Amino acid sequence: MPYYSHLECNHCGSKFDKNIVQNYCHTCVQPLVAKYTLDRKIPKDIIIKDRYDMWRYEALLPVENPENIISLGEGWTQMLHLKKTSDKFGIASVILKEEGLNPTGSFKARGIGMAVSKAKEMGIKSFCIPTAGNAGSALAAYTAAMDGKSYIYMPEATPRVFQLDCEVMGATVIKVKGSIRDAGLAMAKENEGNQWWDITTLKEPFRLEGKKTMGYEIAEQLDWNLPDVIIYPTGGGTGLIGIWKAFKEMQEMGWVDNIPTRMVAVQTKGCNPVVRAFNESRDYCELYEDPEETIANGLRVPKAFGDRLIMSTLTESKGYALDVTEKEMLDGIHEFGQREGIFLSPEGSAVYSAFIKLIKMDYIKKTDSVVLINTGSPYKYVENMY
Ligand SMILES: *Cc1c(COP(=O)(O)O)cnc(C)c1O
Repeated sequence: MPYYSHLECNHCGSKFDKNIVQNYCHTCVQPLVAKYTLDRKIPKDIIIKDRYDMWRYEALLPVENPENIISLGEGWTQMLHLKKTSDKFGIASVILKEEGLNPTGSFKARGIGMAVSKAKEMGIKSFCIPTAGNAGSALAAYTAAMDGKSYIYMPEATPRVFQLDCEVMGATVIKVKGSIRDAGLAMAKENEGNQWWDITTLKEPFRLEGKKTMGYEIAEQLDWNLPDVIIYPTGGGTGLIGIWKAFKEMQEMGWVDNIPTRMVAVQTKGCNPVVRAFNESRDYCELYEDPEETIANGLRVPKAFGDRLIMSTLTESKGYALDVTEKEMLDGIHEFGQREGIFLSPEGSAVYSAFIKLIKMDYIKKTDSVVLINTGSPYKYVENMY
């Protein structure tokens, strides 16, 4: 609240007013990123200790008047210590951040909750979004809570529950042939007059600020000892970019000294633009033509608008990118479930499968502490799993 200062193009560095209603830098066609005036005098006391949701970090978020906050209880999710998994693989510490516990069953609640709250502050009430499912559910929920309207474009292959979820909460759902990219193109055509605020991943700066709260939580919940490795299932990339942004902000405030964390992006074999870019040392992704169907709907993103930020996060953190197969994800769900008593989402299982591969490759070492992010609830994907 007191520290939010302006928006900045991640590419050319142009500065914009902090409340400008603009989707991206028109010169670079690149995301705008929220910037804060931070220094080492800012104490950890600014955290609202008795607030058990993402708004405990309100002072480091872009909503300036707390009356505009629309909260359904998002964030401050469990960090589960996976003792059996760390023993099995001989890794010092393995922790699962359980994001499936968020309202509407995924961490999308953080980003969308932030975007809708900030939109309220800017006087916006109509929204549109292309979605693989969870972002739509979250948008429907938060726009219902704010008395707004939402138009949600989803691929035909999205599990049925997501459409029901959106319609129950009063949103208009439009089904589109193809992937989330095709949904986005169909939406852009309908929204030519910009009658709706387009909150496509990173085409609006505030979802990133919501996802960033995962980074603050991971640090606070680990008593400010950052993990060595974080594995994240990457579609549009907001969580990966957001966690890293939080760590760098904390470093600016002196809340942590150095950042040991290597950020790892996981994708599916049938749609892996980030992995390809990483392997070819490119700082941007190429469009992945004809992405294959997958049980992990949230990862079927052929080209992320924030691709450059994804790649710079991997480079700066000395991270890694790898992909997993459909069989690895399905097997992982069962194997992990039987050992830990936790039912992973397909995206969470992608993370777990990547964890196993990274140990075999010796990228994860015995002494490492590792955080796995289970980004959503498995229950919405039941029809994918038979
Ligand atoms: C959207 C989504 C992802 C991908 O998140 P990004 O921040 O877009 O990379 C992963 N898992 C689940 C369950 C999702 O809904």
